[in-house]
Amino acid sequence: MLKVNNNLCFGCGLCIQVCPQGAVSLVRGKAKIDTKGCNSCHRCLEICPPGAIFEMIIVYPKELRVTVSSLRQRADDIIGRIDRLVTKA
Ligand code: SF4
Ligand code: SF4
Repeated sequence: MLKVNNNLCFGCGLCIQVCPQGAVSLVRGKAKIDTKGCNSCHRCLEICPPGAIFEMIIVYPKELRVTVSSLRQRADDIIGRIDRLVTKA
């Protein structure tokens, strides 16, 4: 889901010009993205001069715990391999 950082947007309208879906409009001088109309092509994000458009990724706590746990296991595996290599050397 794309969002606009209103602190960075200065209302140039470039994102409106490049949007193939007509999903961006200016509201009180700031870009606003209609998430229902957006097809996530990222054209607006790529053209925005100050980088005011960003992708917001929602991470749920349960998914985050699983990801962290998986990364820990991989890190332990890599450390174990390094330890074995160091011991052999
Ligand atoms: S291109 Fe960026 S700065 Fe320009 S109106 Fe869109 S979001 Fe705002
Ligand atoms: S990602 Fe594409 S479709 Fe969505 S608002 Fe930006 S330019 Fe429009």
